[in-house]
Amino acid sequence: MPIDAVAAVTYRCNSRCIMCNIWQIKDFPEMPAEEYGKLPNSLRDINITGGEPFLRNDLVEIIKVMRRACPNAKFNISTNGFLVDAIKRVLPEIKRIVPDIGISISIDGVGQMHEQVRRVPNAWPKVLETMHFCRDILKIKNIKFAFTLNEMNYSQLKSAYDWSKKLGVQFTMAIVHSSDVYFSKKNELKISGEELERQFSHVINSLLKSLKPKNWVRAYFVDGLYRIARGLRRPLEPFAGEDFFYLDPKGDVYPSVIDNVIMGNINHCRNFQNLWYSHQADQARNAVHGFENNYWMVCTARTGIKRNPLKVANWIFKNKIKLARDTRVVTTNNQ
Ligand code: SF4
Repeated sequence: MPIDAVAAVTYRCNSRCIMCNIWQIKDFPEMPAEEYGKLPNSLRDINITGGEPFLRNDLVEIIKVMRRACPNAKFNISTNGFLVDAIKRVLPEIKRIVPDIGISISIDGVGQMHEQVRRVPNAWPKVLETMHFCRDILKIKNIKFAFTLNEMNYSQLKSAYDWSKKLGVQFTMAIVHSSDVYFSKKNELKISGEELERQFSHVINSLLKSLKPKNWVRAYFVDGLYRIARGLRRPLEPFAGEDFFYLDPKGDVYPSVIDNVIMGNINHCRNFQNLWYSHQADQARNAVHGFENNYWMVCTARTGIKRNPLKVANWIFKNKIKLARDTRVVTTNNQ
């Protein structure tokens, strides 16, 4: 049974991001809260996303139902952070249900750049207000800034990372991907060269230098993104539709946020096991097996990383040594 899920609870969105067309979708059906009770109790990580999840008036109820169905899961909400009032009203209640709730707030650059990518006026102050509320008032420990790298903002990766560090917020990132089911858009990343390398190196090296092993694993993940940005193959096999799945707002289950084949619909099954072991789910799983679709996002990489601890440890070891050697060279040259 799967251990990881992304659940988009709505496709309504109050942002206008350049790398996503979800906000243009009108009247997409939304599953009632009680249907989330069918999620399997095998789940260990659930990312609640959208659209903008805080646009759902019954978000608290959805999370209550999910929590009951998946008592061992860690929960994270991905938000653009623009609905400051709704977040201030609803999030304290959510935190009472899930005390260790995680929040990922999108930032696609610092200040103006974020507003250019999101095409929303005052996007930046709203994001900061949401972050301060989560960090200082609600004392949420697991807050992340989530950066999506595209052709417009790639030269701000380093600044966004440093900004997160300065504010004591964790940093996570993605690069633009194409997806009919999730972003409703085809995206191509046509950038390369020294500037891209410089930006990625800063983040990877800084994570490797950290004293927290979790950050070394993040460095491995970011290096995987850099591979994809250069047109190389993802480092690990995804096991989409085996370890993880994507649930859209109307209850269709897909192997991942990228793979556009339906495994079944949660509304139409008696329980999740029936859906997961159905002929349709098997066909979908077989259709996406292997490295054919070249994507690498946290939700599609996390379980692969867990399955391959030695490979990841080996990469960390080699790169930490390389980094120590390079740093020594720089130090020696500067003396
Ligand atoms: S990327 Fe997220 S916030 Fe931006 S339009 Fe798409 S769903 Fe909305």
